[in-house]
Amino acid sequence: MIRDFIYLKANTAGEALDLIDKHKEDYKVICGGQSLLILMRQGLVAPEYLIDIKNVNELNYIRFDKKDGLRIGATTTHRAVESSPLVLEAYPVLVNMEENLASIQTRNWGTIGGNLCHGDPAGDPGPVFIALNGSVKIGSKGKTRTLFLEDFFVDYFETALEEGELLLEVHLPPIPPRTALAYEKFNIIKNDQGFVSLAAAITLENDGLVCKDARIVLGAAAPTPMRIREAERLLIGKKLSKSLLEKAGEKASEEADPVADVHASEEYRRHLVRSLTKKMVNKAWEEAKTLAK
Ligand SMILES: Cc1cc2nc3c(=O)[nH]c(=O)nc-3n(C[C@H](O)[C@H](O)[C@H](O)COP(=O)(O)OP(=O)(O)OC[C@H]3O[C@@H](n4cnc5c(N)ncnc54)[C@H](O)[C@@H]3O)c2cc1C
Repeated sequence: MIRDFIYLKANTAGEALDLIDKHKEDYKVICGGQSLLILMRQGLVAPEYLIDIKNVNELNYIRFDKKDGLRIGATTTHRAVESSPLVLEAYPVLVNMEENLASIQTRNWGTIGGNLCHGDPAGDPGPVFIALNGSVKIGSKGKTRTLFLEDFFVDYFETALEEGELLLEVHLPPIPPRTALAYEKFNIIKNDQGFVSLAAAITLENDGLVCKDARIVLGAAAPTPMRIREAERLLIGKKLSKSLLEKAGEKASEEADPVADVHASEEYRRHLVRSLTKKMVNKAWEEAKTLAK
């Protein structure tokens, strides 16, 4: 049962920050409620004040500029990202990720800001945004700061957001030339959260063959979305081959830090990491070769 709370609604980011500041001893922000209400129903979270930002329309936007990249406001829904022609054109991997995130009902209501702030290591956007070198803009009364998403996730369901702060925006820089991305999650029930997920971004040299840069990010295989840096380093300066993919998969499964739960054992998760690394790196690399032609 949900414990009684005082409901407060903000219509602007400024109003939300004022309310947060005023009630900072015991509040929770709610946007789509898709994750928070589950915790409240389970009695795991019981704030005295619930500050609703769903109607903060100034944070509901998707903006793209070739030089600046993509900016997504925190109250933008998953469905808005999925259906955006701008996103499809410039960051198609995000559309693919969103199409497989939860049900259409959840995507219609759940937001990008809510997803990231929930800090679930199995969340889909985190790994993809990190592979895209994304950052977040965070606001508090009279101040803003930016943080790379890599530094935003701190532990299981814990982020770098401090008391009194609101996530305002996600920023994704332009995708470098000859770069392709691939994302997949492994699950049994379609659109459910992944047992393991993996986003790979591969950038090729001018020759269209040698790897110039690699960003590989795991989901649900560590307490937070996690870059597997040793596997990335193995790829840089090399040409694609079956044995390179095998080595990268092996290294990734060693680097991962998964736990066992009702969905999968630790060993099975390491197996999934190995297999998804090979598959996604290969997919992104092959696509990058086509882009380089
Ligand atoms: C059935 C079901 C299936 C799901 N499947 C998936 C899935 O496959 N993949 C996936 O990634 N997710 C999945 N989710 C999770 C859900 O889609 C996301 O977590 C959702 O995007 C949360 O957004 P929200 O606006 O509803 O957040 P809320 O529930 O309103 O808030 C979540 C948390 O974020 C905080 N918060 C929200 N907005 C802000 C802000 N701007 N600044 C600071 N704090 C904020 C809240 O205080 C709370 O702690 C699923 C959820 C359900 C119910």
